[in-house]
Amino acid sequence: MSQERYDYIIVGGGSAGCVLANRLSADSSHRVCLLEAGPSCKSLVVATPGAFAYFMFSKKYNWMFDSEPVTEIRNGQPVFCPQGKGLGGGSAINAMIYIRGHRSDYDHWAALGNRGWGFDDLLPYFRKNECNERGGDEYHGDSGPLQVSNCRNYYRVNEHFLKAAAEAGYPQTDDFNGPQHEGVGFYQFTIGKGKRCSAAHAYLYPVMGRQNLEVRCGAQVTRILFDGKRAVGVECRANGQSQQVYADKEVIVSSGAYNSPKLLMLSGIGERKLLDETGIDVLYDLPGVGQNLQEHVDSCVLQESLKSDGFTTSALGLLKNAAEPFRYLFGRKGKLESSITQAGGFLRTSEELDVPDVQLHFIPLLYDDSGRDLKLMSRNGYSCHVCVLRPKSKGRMTLRSSDPDDPPRIDLNFFEHPDDRKTLVDGIRLARKILAAPSFDEYRGAEISPGPDAQSDEEILARAKARLGLVYHPVGTCKMGNDELAVVDDELRVRGLERLRVVDASIMPTLIGGNTNAPVMVIAEKAADLILG
Ligand SMILES: Cc1cc2nc3c(=O)[nH]c(=O)nc-3n(C[C@H](O)[C@H](O)[C@H](O)COP(=O)(O)OP(=O)(O)OC[C@H]3O[C@@H](n4cnc5c(N)ncnc54)[C@H](O)[C@@H]3O)c2cc1C
Repeated sequence: MSQERYDYIIVGGGSAGCVLANRLSADSSHRVCLLEAGPSCKSLVVATPGAFAYFMFSKKYNWMFDSEPVTEIRNGQPVFCPQGKGLGGGSAINAMIYIRGHRSDYDHWAALGNRGWGFDDLLPYFRKNECNERGGDEYHGDSGPLQVSNCRNYYRVNEHFLKAAAEAGYPQTDDFNGPQHEGVGFYQFTIGKGKRCSAAHAYLYPVMGRQNLEVRCGAQVTRILFDGKRAVGVECRANGQSQQVYADKEVIVSSGAYNSPKLLMLSGIGERKLLDETGIDVLYDLPGVGQNLQEHVDSCVLQESLKSDGFTTSALGLLKNAAEPFRYLFGRKGKLESSITQAGGFLRTSEELDVPDVQLHFIPLLYDDSGRDLKLMSRNGYSCHVCVLRPKSKGRMTLRSSDPDDPPRIDLNFFEHPDDRKTLVDGIRLARKILAAPSFDEYRGAEISPGPDAQSDEEILARAKARLGLVYHPVGTCKMGNDELAVVDDELRVRGLERLRVVDASIMPTLIGGNTNAPVMVIAEKAADLILG
């Protein structure tokens, strides 16, 4: 078994890990090792924004987790929980929507006692992270590593969605990340010059040549090594061989909201009872590991279209788009230059609320089951997906066994809190109101889901559950804080242990009201400053 030494070991090269690898290795005296279980992701398919759907079928780039089945959700089938695998992690397979959430999300973290995590503390990091093609201002950066661009080559039906929302009485905004977060509009995307800008494209690939940075793909960390309570290295498997890699300064776990708590538990850090059940020796009893799981619960209104100008997987639809791969290959143009989700918004289901409580993703096709229902997708139609922005129900992630190859057990527990049920139903009604506005008259066919016979709250909820999906934003499983379920402190150090941090989506104490990629990169930017002092 070979042994190597570095100053910092980063476990996981996803949205957070790539930022850390760049920032920690900027000083050439620091020896940094990034260990990533998946591939390098330097491929055309990852770079192509329109290839999003492919990743929902790819074991190479996606951990392909499933939730535990619940009878009334998706008719007892598991909810698909994709997670990025490879350099870039989630940012290499995501829908590239660039969102920060609402300033109150971060102010809430600070109010929970997390010093330095309010919106005004983080805004400089958002600006540092971003290179927005619209230019910089007090909200936006114009010289950061992350390329952010406007929506291009969108499907025409999106314009009808925006007009219909205005007719239904909802505000418009042209910048969800500026002074007016609330409203509907076109999203901006982490795309630059027609190519996906993952965290790896932004932060890692440009610095891979640094002599003091070792990036190893196909290296799955199976255990953190300790000397007493001090993390001293990790054990990983690469090419069928077991290796130990040592860290003189810190081990930083950035493996994502499911794999980070999993690795802690495999290393003996977690709730004693749960570890005992799987036969893992307890190093430190930390009950919050894997608890506090929050995700964006999503369901949809699916509407048949009388027109055929959206996207379908029918023979005719595919034929219509047959030239798109060539337009993209020979000029980075056309439909493949864009994400498939192009417009949406942040709205309040009740005027009494201070901030939006639902997010809409409008999709110019019949999109259900993470795009894996190809039969449904072969029909002409469009979907308005609705997600509950700040779910009050909390799920949890636990181990199936002590085998690192076993996928985690994911209990989403979506509907425990009645407010979440109400918000989802109200959100579906809101989406229906938009799709019923005059601008959709020339498009509107039959409503496929919830369906015209679903009118009461109970009927809508039942249909929403049958089509339940995710926006793929799991967080909170190694939450930052100071209560008994907190796993890391506000410098992201694992409580009760030394030289060990967690830096990724799992540290969010509460789910922010928006897509999570940029917020995770910002967490890592701040963490790098905390680590380097
Ligand atoms: C399908 C999908 C669509 C999304 N769409 C959007 C969107 O449009 N906009 C947006 O803002 N957000 C989106 N997100 C969410 C966003 O991408 C994630 O929140 C973000 O990438 C999480 O970053 P992370 O660093 O916490 O984890 P990840 O990026 O998941 O990184 C974790 C990395 O660790 C690696 N790893 C795991 N275990 C080990 C181990 N034991 N050893 C070594 N390596 C390991 C993984 O392979 C992975 O590369 C989407 C996510 C998905 C999955």
